[in-house]
Amino acid sequence: MTDSTDKPSALRKPKATITHIGERKLSPATLMMGAGYDPQLSEGSLKPPMFLTSTFAFESAAAGKHHFEGITGKRPGGAEGLVYSRFNGPNQQILEERLAIWDGAEEALCFSSGMTAITVLMLALCNAGDVIVHSGPLYAASEGFVAKHMSRFGVTYVDFPAGATRAEMDAVLEQAKAQAAANGGKVAMIYLESPANPTNALVDIEAMRDARDEVLGRAQAAEGGSASQNSCPIAIDNTFLGPLWQRPLDHGADIVVYSLTKYVGGHSDLVAGSIAGARRWMTPVRMLRNTMGGICDPNTAWMLLRSLETVELRMTRAGENAAKVCAFLRQHPKVEGLGYLGFIEDARQQDIYRRHCTGAGSTFSLFIKGGEAEAFRFLDSLTIAKLAVSLGGTETLASLPAAMTHLSVPDERKAQLGITDNLVRISIGIEDADDLIADFDQALGKV
Ligand SMILES: *Cc1c(COP(=O)(O)O)cnc(C)c1O
Repeated sequence: MTDSTDKPSALRKPKATITHIGERKLSPATLMMGAGYDPQLSEGSLKPPMFLTSTFAFESAAAGKHHFEGITGKRPGGAEGLVYSRFNGPNQQILEERLAIWDGAEEALCFSSGMTAITVLMLALCNAGDVIVHSGPLYAASEGFVAKHMSRFGVTYVDFPAGATRAEMDAVLEQAKAQAAANGGKVAMIYLESPANPTNALVDIEAMRDARDEVLGRAQAAEGGSASQNSCPIAIDNTFLGPLWQRPLDHGADIVVYSLTKYVGGHSDLVAGSIAGARRWMTPVRMLRNTMGGICDPNTAWMLLRSLETVELRMTRAGENAAKVCAFLRQHPKVEGLGYLGFIEDARQQDIYRRHCTGAGSTFSLFIKGGEAEAFRFLDSLTIAKLAVSLGGTETLASLPAAMTHLSVPDERKAQLGITDNLVRISIGIEDADDLIADFDQALGKV
């Protein structure tokens, strides 16, 4: 009998990435130029070619069997070779290796959009009767997916305000535990988004980790067995500050989630998403992605590899620009206030920021004096900043959440979240900061 769990001898694998020089651990910015790619496997091509193929030729029948054992979960650890483009591909594998580096994660998985990443994650880790505990507000589609779609499969939720204290977190987990017991399920996932959009409220990840360990039990939290059966990971949408300004896995989160469409892609020219974390959490998600599809396509993966080479440069410049622009806006007579992480006044929020973040980002809320009419006048007068939703691109964008992204949110909930008619959402890009200031100054002058 041939033992197909032995690796076929002919497997061509890229050389392992060099991550250290002596004792020195190489930084992500350095690793983005080469990690996971061996030019000698691609005719010496310095940059990874784009692999436009639906399927991959096996080097032998035994190799084909070996690869399928990984794909189907018969052997843990996933595929060790290329099989079929719904499962994996060279561009996507290099991308996943590089994404994992930024967050210090064991593995990463890429998806066709941020929402595909989020929905496949939830579907993979939750069963009927389970409860999801989430911070609020979430990105509207994420919140809608939990409330309107997970509920169709018998998964309920409990939410809490992003800025909650440890005591409030304990209380919400107790409530979720009771709800899960009544429904014959478990608390399957704690899902956070920090900073929250558009309030910019930060979630205390460390406090939630401690609350989870205490209320749901260390045994459950540390359970090494089946991820979908008796443990509760903390997942966090890090789109607004990651990968540069917040590394949630270092603060107690288990899974980090991205819309790569934003800062990581960074040029407003693609839609993609990812998750990253320990293999035990990634494996069930990978299995469901293998079944459903939703892996990002090779062209998008290739563009993201290019984007990752400059992500630190772009985010650093955008962050510096935002600091200069906000310093100008703060003292302007037509400005009522700013929701910018660089100017936090609340002591508890300041403490979370100090512990979790290394930068204030470049996306913030600007409150214009007046209401919708004044905000419209300001937006229509901008010349450099483009009037569009989304964020994290090289260009500066501005929008009015109450009239656009949050138009369908009931007035009462809008009031609760502080989404007023004069709240302009701004994402600062990498233009010249003084040009941006001149543009904001003239537009405010028209109000
Ligand atoms: C944009 C965004 C998403 C959704 O990502 P897509 O790539 O548009 O699917 C999720 N979360 C946050 C915080 C976002 O900004």
